[in-house]
Amino acid sequence: MPATILDGTKIAQEIRGEVAAQVKTMAAAGVRPGLAVVLVGRNPASEIYVRGKVKACEEVGIYSHKLTPPESVTTAELLDQIAELNHRDDVDGILVQLPLPAQVDSKKVLLAVDPAKDVDGFHPMNVGFLSTQRPGLVPCTPAGVLEILKRSHIQIEGREAVVVGRSDIVGKPAAMLLLNANATVTVCHSKTHNLPAVCRRADILVAAIGRPGMITRDFVRPGATVIDVGMNTITDANEFRRFFAENGKREESFRKRGSTLIGDVHPEVAEVAGALTPVPGGVGPLTIAMLMFNTVVAARMRRGNRVPELTRA
Ligand code: NAP
Repeated sequence: MPATILDGTKIAQEIRGEVAAQVKTMAAAGVRPGLAVVLVGRNPASEIYVRGKVKACEEVGIYSHKLTPPESVTTAELLDQIAELNHRDDVDGILVQLPLPAQVDSKKVLLAVDPAKDVDGFHPMNVGFLSTQRPGLVPCTPAGVLEILKRSHIQIEGREAVVVGRSDIVGKPAAMLLLNANATVTVCHSKTHNLPAVCRRADILVAAIGRPGMITRDFVRPGATVIDVGMNTITDANEFRRFFAENGKREESFRKRGSTLIGDVHPEVAEVAGALTPVPGGVGPLTIAMLMFNTVVAARMRRGNRVPELTRA
């Protein structure tokens, strides 16, 4: 039986609706959550991401403020701008769009963001809060992975979870969230021996690698839930055919655009997995939805209010 497809777009819409309702309640109490986005230079991909984030703010009623320092900005100049945002009361969340230009010390800049406004959840203070199960701001993409599992009623407690990838942005926080939800967690990386055998232990397999279609059916225990975080662009026609032969709909769009998006999971996995997130339309849409949620969390925590919960219908 083919895998159940876990619809990330629908789940993200639900979350955005819940966040909009919370923003409305806060507005009635005279508070409008605000998000400042720092976009350095003219990186086309970053511009697209930031446009999506600003639009999402408008849709849920969050105030957004975009700062666009030039490509030539120095670390000191950026630190001054972050310090100002840290002090502004109308700014609850600060997001520094990565990557920053080579002359900028990115770690120094990210460390300067007030942890209470760190809606990306990358500050070491928030990393510590997550690993010690204290309230804090959780990185958006891994938080989205957990929302997909919970809202799809996939049991986490007591299950074997395998996360492939150990980045600070996805792999490690995803593993920590699964551990906090009482899964038995294994984290794999490029030096892991016999990766397919380790992955086959998983009831829940999370792929956050950045390698197109690397997780083939050999990595997946029949019936397992597979969460594909990968976002890779394919432009080569032979590579396209290797993954999507006989997929007429994809082929048409590939011909039109000259590229297609593929995750880290091979499409053939749909034949063995019990449930699977598609790419596009799986984890991707959750990232912005969780950013909106984090901005509301930050706005409430800064004011000493109870941290909101998502409905999880
Ligand atoms: P990253 O920082 O490059 O980390 C990749 C991880 O995969 C590393 O831990 C690496 O191991 C591991 N890896 C690489 N090759 C491997 C192999 N052959 N076998 C086993 N492990 C291997 O990437 P990332 O930032 O975590 O992102 C991962 C993917 O998620 C990318 O495709 C990215 O575009 C996507 N992503 C999507 C979203 C979203 O919104 N959906 C958000 C963020 C990222 P080592 O540590 O040993 O090098």
